[in-house]
Amino acid sequence: MISKKMESLVKNSSAIRAMFEEGKKMAAVYGKENVYDFSLGNPSVEPPKEVAEALKSIPDSYGANYTHGYMSNAGYEEVRSAIAKSINSRFGTAFTESNIIMTVGAAGGMNVIMKTLLNAGDEVITFAPFFGEYRNYVSNFDGKLIEISPDTSSFQPKLDEFEARITALTRIVIINSPNNPTGVVYSRDTLEKIAAILEKKQKEFGAPIYILSDEPYRELAFDGVEVPYIPTIYRNTIVGYSFSKSLSLPGDRIGYLVIPSEIDDYADIFAAAGVATRILGFVNAPSVAQLVVSKCLDASVDIGIYNRNRELLYSKLSEYGYECIKPEGAFYLFVKAFEPDDKAFVAKAKEHRLLIVPGSTFGCAGYVRIAYCVDYAMIERSLPAFKALAEEYGK
Ligand code: PLP
Repeated sequence: MISKKMESLVKNSSAIRAMFEEGKKMAAVYGKENVYDFSLGNPSVEPPKEVAEALKSIPDSYGANYTHGYMSNAGYEEVRSAIAKSINSRFGTAFTESNIIMTVGAAGGMNVIMKTLLNAGDEVITFAPFFGEYRNYVSNFDGKLIEISPDTSSFQPKLDEFEARITALTRIVIINSPNNPTGVVYSRDTLEKIAAILEKKQKEFGAPIYILSDEPYRELAFDGVEVPYIPTIYRNTIVGYSFSKSLSLPGDRIGYLVIPSEIDDYADIFAAAGVATRILGFVNAPSVAQLVVSKCLDASVDIGIYNRNRELLYSKLSEYGYECIKPEGAFYLFVKAFEPDDKAFVAKAKEHRLLIVPGSTFGCAGYVRIAYCVDYAMIERSLPAFKALAEEYGK
């Protein structure tokens, strides 16, 4: 018999994963070429060549015991030091290895921070639409996720509502920009306003409120848009970074946390995050993946490929009558459904063999997410289906 908590979690298990599984079944019936799977944020662009080169050189450079051994729970010191230097050169910060903890992707890092900071009943605020897994990351540690309702005209954070919802129980504010599912990038001005609100509320309640900046899409920003580095804007910021998308390594489960020395209770938090890494069962982030990414810090996937997908899909869907804000980053389009019930709309799309994800998964009903980290040729093949779906709704 499984636990009561898991019973309900299994029942409400991820709609994204469910759609992905459905896609595999449909491909077996209709043929892979005739199913248009836009469900999962699984990168389609190859990792940069530096990854393969690093993988080849690592056994010779380090020796097997080192390469495959246990290390400090926070990760290899020289890897953390290389990452700190790379961040410093990009953002003018002054981090060292004492500010970096290697993690099992962004997901691992976020769970480590929730474990580190939350008491039961503590509140974590996020702005809808948001990555639905946050619900689990927070409830894993008996926290309460507070969703700020979406501003569907811009998908920028609603600041009035945000300010009003901060309480003495607020411990963490999750920010995700470039955003999954909208592709929106929060401007410097917006982030400065969020910082000012938090400074004021910290004083009012006499306790720190931390921003957790969830940054798997930092490197996936188009047209030269600025993705401001939040620790340089708000002192109590912890960053959760991931190489899942920037190097196309989601299966290797590698990322890191940045815990600046300037944050309140730095020493306790850094030590506790190391312990959390161990006792959550990660022990440490995968050793080979740590060594690989440390040799690829200046490399990135070719985002021109995602940009080409974005341009094609955005222009064609707009032409067919779909409403959507042009994304500035990540690899998703967040499109208004042609009926209020996004799940019914997703079911209709499926009849056209289009697999997309309901916006309610992201705390924003009435919309759907289309992940365009797929082959360009599949997008081209799918266009008649998107057109037919729009026509079915009289567009
Ligand atoms: N946060 C967001 C916004 C994501 O979209 C994802 C994955 O898609 C994650 C976190 C988890 O990323 P990782 O694979 O690094 O654990």
